[in-house]
Amino acid sequence: PADYNYAEALQKAIYFYEAQQSGVLPDFNRVEWRGDSGLLDGADVGHDLTGGWYDAGDHVKFGFPMASTATMLAWSVYEYKEGYEKTGQLEAILDNLRFVNDYFIKAHTAPNELYGQVGNGNADHNWWGPAEVMPMARPAYKIDASKPGSDLAAETAAALASASIVFKDSDPAYSSELLQHAEQLYAFADQYRGKYSDSITDAQQFYNSWSGYADELSWGAVWLYLATEEQDYLDKAIAASNLWNKDQQGSWGYKWTHNWDDKQYGAQLLLARITNDPKFVESTKKSMEFWTTGVTGTGERVSYTPGGLAHLDQWGALRYAANQAFLAFVYSDWVSDPVMKQTTRQFAESQILYMLGDNPRNSSYVVGFGDNPPERPHHRTSHGSWADSQSVPANHRHILYGALVGGPDKNDNYTDSISDYVSNEVATDYNAGFTGALAKMAILYGDGQEPLANFPAPEAREDEMFVEASVNASGSNFVEIRALLNNRSGWPARASEEMSFRYFVDLTELVQAGYGPQDVTVTAGGYNQGAAVSQLIPHDASQNIYYVDVDFSGTRIYPGGQSAYRKEVQFRIAAPLNTNVWDNANDFSYQGLATQGSSPIKTAYIPVYDGGVHVFGQLP
Ligand code: BGC
Ligand code: CA
Repeated sequence: PADYNYAEALQKAIYFYEAQQSGVLPDFNRVEWRGDSGLLDGADVGHDLTGGWYDAGDHVKFGFPMASTATMLAWSVYEYKEGYEKTGQLEAILDNLRFVNDYFIKAHTAPNELYGQVGNGNADHNWWGPAEVMPMARPAYKIDASKPGSDLAAETAAALASASIVFKDSDPAYSSELLQHAEQLYAFADQYRGKYSDSITDAQQFYNSWSGYADELSWGAVWLYLATEEQDYLDKAIAASNLWNKDQQGSWGYKWTHNWDDKQYGAQLLLARITNDPKFVESTKKSMEFWTTGVTGTGERVSYTPGGLAHLDQWGALRYAANQAFLAFVYSDWVSDPVMKQTTRQFAESQILYMLGDNPRNSSYVVGFGDNPPERPHHRTSHGSWADSQSVPANHRHILYGALVGGPDKNDNYTDSISDYVSNEVATDYNAGFTGALAKMAILYGDGQEPLANFPAPEAREDEMFVEASVNASGSNFVEIRALLNNRSGWPARASEEMSFRYFVDLTELVQAGYGPQDVTVTAGGYNQGAAVSQLIPHDASQNIYYVDVDFSGTRIYPGGQSAYRKEVQFRIAAPLNTNVWDNANDFSYQGLATQGSSPIKTAYIPVYDGGVHVFGQLP
């Protein structure tokens, strides 16, 4: 187990949450290819709903998995703070917890009103580009007293309450603000009961509340009990357990694990530890057996891959194993039965090791970590397409360090494919239990380990804005240029309405023949997608060097689709008819152009400006 650097794994797993940040990026954000985005979130409903996390490879802010993830991460600090401390990651996890909890506070716009989603699922998923230049409307959806959502409100209460514990010592004022919102949201959840996905119906296709809300009513109350030590919350947590789903044998669920939808597993574990009540203790044990040696009596057991992964479900197999690993560690640390203690700890370690590289492929399932890691995760912003396409460019432009991918099939097979959101997407909830389990691994095996210094290394940047050009036509008194002004920005992606370029000519041959710049006319030709084309402007008149300013001001050019990322213009620079001396050969910008009839090619001799600032190419 000591073969892996858990300090580095933890550092990267936390970094992933910074790659998911929406709104104005905080100073602590380390992702050089991310910029501010989603700045109008909430404007349609008159609230500031900027901030929070993009859910996965997409850019919807789904509040239900976001809150569930935040609770899991705070839970992991509550249990394994030492693991974060010893690896130097405590500040990073607290910064990221504060960032997401600040969003929950904003989304809680009135005592009985909580915004639970920003962005329409289908509109968002139909477009493939970086978050900074999203073109679609991003509607906000809420729950309130007439359209309740006890699961969403109680899970958000759990997130806020668990965070209030974690911030209690370092920032008591913030901690009590979090707790106040948690208490209000819990009261709302409890009083106005319903499934959030019946109210926010757009969520049904994506994060439907399958298990209902009784599990969250317990889960939220457990965390409020831990935050306040008020017996009333413990009573509510226990009371709601009477409403938990049961199978035909009358048994609470044991064949799944804690996840964004179903919190019964975490709730029963904490209630077992708090109350020692046999019903919670036994149900927790049964689920632990299901994931390890098989349920006593029936032998029912989760499927295992030949390589040793507990494979619950194909869609995001690793996140279930990671969540269960975290719960198994917490259980192992508490349970007194030595066999269960050993079995569950061994299970948790083996699952995390599988993810880091101990598997038949000898490959990491964490982007940017270990051997042969995934390079093609289903993730829009790290791919960095400018053309609204999963195949442009062929490779990701950015490394999404620390993201756990969906994972292999039940035979340990896996293909690193950008289009496969079942096995190769990443998500905030995928990394939740995983991060917590890494903190525990660091406690166990991280002695002397250090996170990477100067992480992350700067990326090699590609040209972001440039011109592709060709000669359209040329004659004894003129040249006509076809030019495509590109915005393929990605560090970060950014839209511009102020791009321009300059085409430089040398008029020496005309001057020697008795003409001057005043005799030359520039005209925008047959095809023009928004440029204003100037007459000749002196650059160095003593050397007869002039340029045409081709200005796309007012035209939005952005890396968000075939017709969005580049704009074309054709223009002709002409001396009077019959001058017969026009010579392209001495023109600075003529160098390297594609010849007549061939496709325009990128040229450094046509410098590009953004907002008047020279951003690409050379000057004569
Ligand atoms: C999105 C994924 C999403 C999947 C299923 C895809 O279009 O890119 O983020 O998980 O649809 O909803
Ligand atoms: Ca639920």
